[in-house]
Amino acid sequence: MWPTIVVVEDEAPMRRLLKTVLAAQGYLVFQAESGRRGQIETGTRKPDLVILDLGLPDLDGIEVIRQLRAWSRVPIIVLSARHQEAQKVAALDAGADDYLTKPFGAAELLARVRVSLRHAAMVPANDGQSDFSVGHLKVDLLGRRVSIRGQEVHLTPIEYRLLSVLVKHAGNTLTHRQLMHDVWGSARADQGHYLRIYKRQLRHKLEEEPARPRFLLTEVGVGYRLAAE
Ligand code: CA
Repeated sequence: MWPTIVVVEDEAPMRRLLKTVLAAQGYLVFQAESGRRGQIETGTRKPDLVILDLGLPDLDGIEVIRQLRAWSRVPIIVLSARHQEAQKVAALDAGADDYLTKPFGAAELLARVRVSLRHAAMVPANDGQSDFSVGHLKVDLLGRRVSIRGQEVHLTPIEYRLLSVLVKHAGNTLTHRQLMHDVWGSARADQGHYLRIYKRQLRHKLEEEPARPRFLLTEVGVGYRLAAE
């Protein structure tokens, strides 16, 4: 009944820590100490979530993501070191759902795990059926209505499209490239500029203090994330 998680991590202390924290919440945890072992565990256990360290001895973590994505939609959270923004971007662009920067706390780990499992569970029902709300922000994806404290907010079509892409992945970080692709249909370099403009406009319409956003969060060097809780 409890979700199954495969942890792919070569460092034994980190693997044990993950297992302890996750098992204490009732998750069923299987461990793999290499990329190849991780692929086998994922293939045989059919987990609900994979937590994948990007620094593995045998395979490049990005390559592991690509190979998993060839046959599986299982949510993948990658573990990455601080100051490795390019690696995080590459992992997300390759199909990872989220990342955690080492060192991280148990609360942060469990929050990311919950978000990823929730997204996976929502996939079939997520075609515009559901309402999304966080704090005072409400988004009705079916009616295309956005409100703050019950007051309707008027968005331009592109502002709305950007927000709805973020809502569909709420709690996960989206790279600039993913956002440009989903909002404009292609990821041309010059659109990075438009993305920043629309992000700023959205913040002015949705945030109480646009300079200290509560909803539309910047992940420095990686992309943007809509708060999910
Ligand atoms: Ca490692």
